Amino acid sequence: MTTMGDKIKFEEINHEGRFVKQLPGDPIEKNYPRQVEKAHYSFVNTVTPKNPNLVHSSSDLMQELGIEVGDYKTFLSIVSGDKPFPSAQAYAMCYGGHQFGHWAGQLGDGRAINIMEGKVNGNYQTFQLKGAGPTPYSRSGDGFAVLRSSIREYLCSEAMYHLGVPTSRALSLVRTGDAITRDMLYNGNPADEPGAIVCRVAPNFIRFGNFEIFAARRDVESLRKLTDYTIEYYYPQLGKPSKETYLAFFQEVVNRTLEMMLHWQRVGFVHGVMNTDNMSILGLTIDYGPYGWLEDYDPDWTPNTTDTQNRRYRFGNQPNISLWNLTQLANTLYALIEEVEPLQAILDQYRKDYFLRYHEMMLSKLGLENAAVPEPFIQELTKLLKDSQMDMTLFFRSISAIEVPNIGELHRIASYLPGAEQKAAIKNWEKWWNQYAYFKSELNLSDKRRSEQMKRVNPKYVLRNYMAQLAIEDAEKGNYDLIDELYQLLLKPYDEQPEMEKWFVKRPDWALNKVGCSMLSCSS
Ligand code: AMP
Ligand code: MG
Repeated sequence: MTTMGDKIKFEEINHEGRFVKQLPGDPIEKNYPRQVEKAHYSFVNTVTPKNPNLVHSSSDLMQELGIEVGDYKTFLSIVSGDKPFPSAQAYAMCYGGHQFGHWAGQLGDGRAINIMEGKVNGNYQTFQLKGAGPTPYSRSGDGFAVLRSSIREYLCSEAMYHLGVPTSRALSLVRTGDAITRDMLYNGNPADEPGAIVCRVAPNFIRFGNFEIFAARRDVESLRKLTDYTIEYYYPQLGKPSKETYLAFFQEVVNRTLEMMLHWQRVGFVHGVMNTDNMSILGLTIDYGPYGWLEDYDPDWTPNTTDTQNRRYRFGNQPNISLWNLTQLANTLYALIEEVEPLQAILDQYRKDYFLRYHEMMLSKLGLENAAVPEPFIQELTKLLKDSQMDMTLFFRSISAIEVPNIGELHRIASYLPGAEQKAAIKNWEKWWNQYAYFKSELNLSDKRRSEQMKRVNPKYVLRNYMAQLAIEDAEKGNYDLIDELYQLLLKPYDEQPEMEKWFVKRPDWALNKVGCSMLSCSS
């Protein structure tokens, strides 16, 4: 293996291909939509792009993986799907899922193709192209992805990582040169859009739905194989397969999912499509689609236009939905465990644990870690934030200062209420604000220390919906500067970055009802 410094070239990563070596695949090699039974994946080829161009690549991720672009042309040919990764056979995974609360049958990687997996810097990683063409799981889809949604996934997965949220990563963003037709608002107005491919990276992309599909088909053998595989390679500390091990595995997945939920609620991330096929078995945030960031604090907000009616995936409901999704996974693993009670006990405990951990998390956002603060104090805060239409990020970051602005100033900085309505809203805060001052004074913590601690949990910069939209509009015109500016900004979301203060402001008025900023469809 050629080394350049202590890094290895991307194309020289040793492809191990564990998933396809260990698990049975689809015997049919032709690529057409079909039901794939008793198999975990199908081999596929990526489609040759017309005129691929590298828009951006994550130097930070490369650094972390200890890899670098060796030959630029070779790198581009691999991450654009033009050429296969040396010695690897690309494949798409078979999975099912519950979508919006209903069993949807077989879904699978309809436009994601795993191109390589192997150890980098000591950790096993899977490299996957999103938008490199159809697979047996594409159903009526074309297998491609458009530039706007690819920019959103690329920037957001990297941003989430630097916020400390468990997530898949993004290595590269390529424009394919092909035109892709999409009816963006599902209103009968299809248009051509630029095609793009993101190369995403995670230890694996196994979803709750990978397990569910086998339970639904009463194929316990395949379910057991996948569970044993996942435990052996991703939860090896749990030991050899047994009923106890399967239960411990479920407990681990519950723990990791709970951690992920706390992070989402901490930073104000709304996934938008928490179907069980979008839930990672490693507790990672995956499949960035019509996600959004909470601006004016509203637990009922969802960015996904497909979900406006029921708001199933609204901000405040994400922890509940996780539990619902975990319940589907429990139903699936029941086929291996054959006992309801221990599974139910784990699910019941999630509810209790989440409640306690959420309280702790909110206290840390207020700089009141370990303080004896009653739960209604937090409930009252969330009500006030909502009534004052307070920008979540601006509010929590502003109160993280050494010198905290007064509540009037905070409204000027962070409230979306019209000026005339702010006066009454400010009055409502009086009691809570005094209590808060009291709790802080009880802590005996210097303002400097408190500020330092709070700034570690309250980010200054997140990828607001309008910011991504601005980058998209520029990129569609061929200008990628803003993609890089936002990428750089979001590498250090907790740092002050005074030269970037222009991104530490309220959402501009023009973005309030603009497509891509306040509402997003699943069309991508
Ligand atoms: P999502 O809600 O985006 O996670 O997608 C749900 C399912 O639809 C997955 O199985 C995807 O692979 C599939 N899918 C979404 N978009 C496309 C597309 N353009 N072509 C093929 N399959 C797609
Ligand atoms: Mg998905």
